[in-house]
Amino acid sequence: MKFMLCSRLIAVLALSLCCVVAGFAADGKPAGNPFLQTVRVAPNLEPAIPHPEQDAEVRAKLERIKAKTGRAPNILILLVDDMGYGDPGAFGGGAAIGAPTPNIDALASGGLKLTSTYAQPTCTPTRAAINTGRLPTRSGLTRPILTGENPKVNPWADEATAAGLLSEAGYRTGMAGKWHLGEAIGTQPHQVGYDEYFGILSVVSEMSQVIDGHLYPEIVNKAERLAKVKQIASTLVTRGLRGQPTEVVKKMASIDDLSRMDQMFADWSDGFIRRSAKDKKPFYLVHAFSKVHNDNYPAPGYAGKSPAGLPYKDAVVEVDDIVGRLISTLKETGQLENTLVFFTSDNGANEDTWPDTGFQPFRGGKGTTWEGGVRVPGIAYWPGTIKAGRTSDGLFDLTDLFNTSLALASAQEKIAPTRYIDGVNQTGFLLGDNGESARQAVFMYSENNLMAMRWQEFKIHMRVFNTAETRQNIDASTIAVTGMSPWVFNLYADPKEQRSSGHRYFEWGFPVVLSMMGAHVATFAQFSRKDIGLSVAR
Ligand code: CA
Repeated sequence: MKFMLCSRLIAVLALSLCCVVAGFAADGKPAGNPFLQTVRVAPNLEPAIPHPEQDAEVRAKLERIKAKTGRAPNILILLVDDMGYGDPGAFGGGAAIGAPTPNIDALASGGLKLTSTYAQPTCTPTRAAINTGRLPTRSGLTRPILTGENPKVNPWADEATAAGLLSEAGYRTGMAGKWHLGEAIGTQPHQVGYDEYFGILSVVSEMSQVIDGHLYPEIVNKAERLAKVKQIASTLVTRGLRGQPTEVVKKMASIDDLSRMDQMFADWSDGFIRRSAKDKKPFYLVHAFSKVHNDNYPAPGYAGKSPAGLPYKDAVVEVDDIVGRLISTLKETGQLENTLVFFTSDNGANEDTWPDTGFQPFRGGKGTTWEGGVRVPGIAYWPGTIKAGRTSDGLFDLTDLFNTSLALASAQEKIAPTRYIDGVNQTGFLLGDNGESARQAVFMYSENNLMAMRWQEFKIHMRVFNTAETRQNIDASTIAVTGMSPWVFNLYADPKEQRSSGHRYFEWGFPVVLSMMGAHVATFAQFSRKDIGLSVAR
């Protein structure tokens, strides 16, 4: 009996890896498996679950708003860096872990709390995914760009950003805060689609390593080495307008400078929103916090402001205050009812930097494809349009922000057929009073490795991260290929992914998930991956 089961599993895996698409009709609709619900409308677009009734409801809603406001809706994406799923009070943290988040919680209770929002495991890949709607393994932005590193190929030369397409559609597009998607000329925000940019091209830890001698004595206390690292580390706050050269706003030269960065970004976004309101122009603004990525230094007035009194927790309180401030600006300028606000984080909390880190009730952390690395808080907020108090465990991948933003601007036709788009339009899910997700599965990668997928409440791992030391997900981990049975966890029964029960309880599910995985892998045959030089020789 055992042998028979194993043989069947081998057959299923072999089938999935070789020719699973053979079971699909030309329109991408599955032939035969009752669990497969998606429809593929174009070769380069991710199949989505059709929900015609909620789409009609949402179209009517949007037409009513447009008739009232006379213009397309604004989009404000609030992207925190390295915030754990469990940090906001609405997601189980807040006061219980020494850092209340009343403003973020108010977005959740006043809108839609998404309990299954997925990012990529690290910073650069998630930012690439949000901007392009594509998994990083397609764009080549598969891991963080490091100090002094420039990809050999400009990844943006043949990518289209949501900002660029929305700008063509009449939007004012802005990028505030942390970019981390290229520092070279031709790769900066105002050179790849944004009308306006104000922020940092790198990451705060690239700056603190040449400033903070307590944390980085190997650099700061060695004059010769310090001079060299300073030559390659990007320590500037810069700004730029489309078509114009990048300007230096300020060189970050002290811990005090670093502590104030997020307030500078907040000031700029506040002004951007006010200008857009005054000019009656719809806007798309990505406000990307520098905090709560290590190293956190409390801004003036924030040291000890959290009950925990730890720098990380003070940073959470500051981020929450800035969220409240920007929402107030929308309200003051009369735009709150014409703006989709989406709050999220770019990856899970970074356990390697404990105690300068957040919290998640899952296994693993930043850098891994365990839930702790990729499952992030997600909130969609739009008073009057998104029904208050909704919660959904429907799947949302941050690539979906690309398609959803374009759909809100009625600009989906601007998506070129030449690039594969992994995002799906989730306007129906977010805006429908009882909206359901259009996404059937989330595929999870580490660099170019397809690691795992989420389907319904199940997580299926083809490869897993093994961590040699507690809280050392990035610095002491290995990747292993799973054995005969992929590892499967029921996330409702086992959210910490502690006991795989695939061959025991999920045999019925293997054919469907392996089919989906096979169809996903088959897209690379027609739409090739890009290598921009971030691959690591191992
Ligand atoms: Ca990050």
